[in-house]
Amino acid sequence: MTSKSIWEGSDLYEHSVNQLDRAIEIANLDRNVGERLKLPKRAMIVSIPIRLDDGAVHTFEGYRVQHNMTLGPTKGGIRFHEDVSLSEVAALSMLMTMKCSLVGLPLGGGKGGIKVNPNLLSRVEKQALTRRFTTEIHNIIGPTQDIPAPDVGTDGQIMAWMMDTYSQNHGFAVPGVVTGKPIEIGGSLGREESTGRGLVFCTTEATELLKVPLAPETTVAVQGFGKVGGVAAREMMELGTRVVAISDVSGGVYDPEGLDIEDCLTWVRRHKSLEGYEKGAKEAAKGGTKGGAKKDTKKGAKITKITNEELLELDVDILLPCALDNVITKENANRIKAKIIGEGANGPTSAEAHEILIQKNVYVIPDILANAGGVIVSYFEWVQDLQSLFWSAKQVNEQLKSIIVKAFHEVEGTSRKFNCDLRAGALVRAVDRLEKAMLWRGVFP
Ligand code: NAD
Repeated sequence: MTSKSIWEGSDLYEHSVNQLDRAIEIANLDRNVGERLKLPKRAMIVSIPIRLDDGAVHTFEGYRVQHNMTLGPTKGGIRFHEDVSLSEVAALSMLMTMKCSLVGLPLGGGKGGIKVNPNLLSRVEKQALTRRFTTEIHNIIGPTQDIPAPDVGTDGQIMAWMMDTYSQNHGFAVPGVVTGKPIEIGGSLGREESTGRGLVFCTTEATELLKVPLAPETTVAVQGFGKVGGVAAREMMELGTRVVAISDVSGGVYDPEGLDIEDCLTWVRRHKSLEGYEKGAKEAAKGGTKGGAKKDTKKGAKITKITNEELLELDVDILLPCALDNVITKENANRIKAKIIGEGANGPTSAEAHEILIQKNVYVIPDILANAGGVIVSYFEWVQDLQSLFWSAKQVNEQLKSIIVKAFHEVEGTSRKFNCDLRAGALVRAVDRLEKAMLWRGVFP
């Protein structure tokens, strides 16, 4: 790019463009395709006035970016966060294009967001914001054009309001306009667990390749204990590994003998965070009955509190960052001891840190592969809505496994072929598929 474009301005956008350039270079892909993929197809920037509970009218800023529609309608989350910017949303939409292409979905990438701290809004205000935003972007979304989903700060309730607003504008129910909806209005079984589950499928394939046994001698640490991290920690425990540490925004807990993840989940459901879990579990180990911590067991006696930074540097076999972006940086990458890192979060590893980890021979499963389970099951939800025919949880999980495991081995094979790391291999796979499709379709007119 010669002059500054409207999309530039965030580190994530710059980083995504650099990664794209690297993939094009490694596999000698079409440069025209590369240049086209650096820029989203289109975006809508909207002002969203709503009346707050105190009577004042406040105007928020919102965006919907559609990055690429070569393979099908665009798909991607709506983020409610005060740091949302057009450039960040553009970068995230580009990553969605890559993710959908990588796992072979007939979808392109999109993303949206509103610059707002949702925690400061009442339910009534949040509903007004969601409905007015949906109305503003209503002309560019729809089951055949662009299908939003939840992201940071949004959830099934927000999707239900979006679906209702869109449907009211059309005069009939249009469940396929968004995914991540409640089951009662066309959501899919298994959608909520899909990202964590997909991460575990990828991690399991990596353990097999590296001959790391799924047994108690294999230790795991999980950062973030929400929708992704909570499911991943539980499923890693169920597979027989020892999950020794988990964390959330309040900090982490560590037990060298392995945490009882079901008990931790019960605690978080009751207390809304992990805060105090170590005391509750110790209390219970002594025979007390506090909180969700297990009774009648010696388990819990060795639990200590740790920080999120300490969790990342623990001497474990598998590390699953499932909270925020940019947590593994050039400052701490050298102190990371895990053999396998599965990126449940989007962008948890900085570009410099990634180079350090690769030098240290750490097996990094990149985000666009590791957390693709969410968009895969979102795709299933959309297909079910279009057909008005709903699948069993077993069907959803089997199809998810088959798609993500296939993608894992394709990325592995591509990395071996081009002698590059998995992150570059994943992007090469994604761009290669897009390149073929874009060259078939050609440049209009
Ligand atoms: P979530 O809100 O359900 O959970 C986030 C977890 O991270 C919570 O436990 C929270 O306490 C913790 N957290 C927040 N701030 C933290 C901090 N400063 N330090 C440590 N922990 C902190 O969100 P989620 O849906 O589980 O998403 C987690 C990550 O996975 C995000 O990066 C998201 O973009 C990515 N992701 C999610 C999905 C999905 O389907 N949910 C799909 C793809 C990628």
